[in-house]
Amino acid sequence: MYRYFNRISSRIAGPRALAPAPAETGHGKLWHCRCGQAVFFGNSLCLTCQAPLGYLPGNDLVSALSPGQAPGTWTLDSAPEAGAVRRCANFDTAAACNWLVPAGDPQPLCRACRLNRTIPDLSVPENNGYWLKVETAKRRLVAQLLNLGLPLVAKIEDEATGLAFDFVGTSMDGTRPTTGHADGLVTLDIKEADDAHREAVRQAMREPYRTLLGHFRHEVGHYYWDRLIAGSTWLEPFRALFGDEQQSYADALERHYQQGAPAAWAQQYVSAYATMHPWEDWAETWAHYLHMMDAVDTAQGFGMSGHNAGLDYVPFSPNNLYDPSHTSASAFLAFVNAWIELAGMLNELSRAMGQPDFYPFALPPEVIVKLHFIHLVVQGAGGKADEMLAIEGGGNESVVATDHGACPGAPQ
Ligand SMILES: [Zn+2]
Ligand SMILES: [Zn+2]
Ligand SMILES: [Zn+2]
Repeated sequence: MYRYFNRISSRIAGPRALAPAPAETGHGKLWHCRCGQAVFFGNSLCLTCQAPLGYLPGNDLVSALSPGQAPGTWTLDSAPEAGAVRRCANFDTAAACNWLVPAGDPQPLCRACRLNRTIPDLSVPENNGYWLKVETAKRRLVAQLLNLGLPLVAKIEDEATGLAFDFVGTSMDGTRPTTGHADGLVTLDIKEADDAHREAVRQAMREPYRTLLGHFRHEVGHYYWDRLIAGSTWLEPFRALFGDEQQSYADALERHYQQGAPAAWAQQYVSAYATMHPWEDWAETWAHYLHMMDAVDTAQGFGMSGHNAGLDYVPFSPNNLYDPSHTSASAFLAFVNAWIELAGMLNELSRAMGQPDFYPFALPPEVIVKLHFIHLVVQGAGGKADEMLAIEGGGNESVVATDHGACPGAPQ
């Protein structure tokens, strides 16, 4: 019953059986079937020509599939050189996974699904739908981590440094799980996939924004702090920028829930929660970095930009960067300013539809410094982050020095 839930290609352009597939741009989340039909990240079947489709992680490619030589194997029409593949073992489950696995891989599950240590109890009917939402968000997360070249290994492959997920509900004794991260294990309360529950928590916590993908991006931020910052040459620069993470986390948590965030938090932090402890500041800013990278990349793939929208804002300048002399500094600046323009435009579009703001945050200069620091860490670890910054048709050659940036779409 879940087979066609999230996995069929959308008919946005109608049948194009005779049209050649356009060249892929290398940006964004739009690919093409062998028949020319546009297909998306979550698709497993082309509605136009009925071709089976699958996503090959690492190559970041959705392709039509042709039967391989061995039973149960396939080759990718768009990348035959990738060799024989098979579907993830979670294809015909409520997780509806459309990812592919090299035919010779000993693991039955794909790079995303093998990260699961605990999945919800599927004998509870609503958990099937929750699990689908959770996996859909997680696949988006994992694809991005791989595209950035970040180290990603499952705990079943390396217990000490690997990553794993527990998707759990209320225990038999009525205890609710706490969403969080510890030693590479991300725990998610499955109720977070229930829209009504998540919205109620968002309001109670006075958060402007709360999503499954946001949870995942935040929690893996903690994981990558352990992997990339702890014990590395980044540790002292981290402390200089985010604060000393050796201060008591328990005391910080207590203080935060007793007193709330400092009054002027918005001048230095991306969220009120980020003020709680340097680890939370890192995880919150890291999550925003991943949001921005994915959104700008997706917009680029659709040829979309707010650059000519005439928005009234002061662009960020080189003195807002962590390292203005870095080779990618101007590209990063162009990326940040492209995001400000895009967010401003999309916030207005959301308001036109009576929806909450697309990006209900303001980015003060101090946060831009932290975002650039994170970018340098990610580039250093994966070597691919700079490639993702290629902004077309924008650029900020004419940026002016300023001490205060602003998000034109932020709540007034
Ligand atoms: Zn097709
Ligand atoms: Zn999978
Ligand atoms: Zn956290």
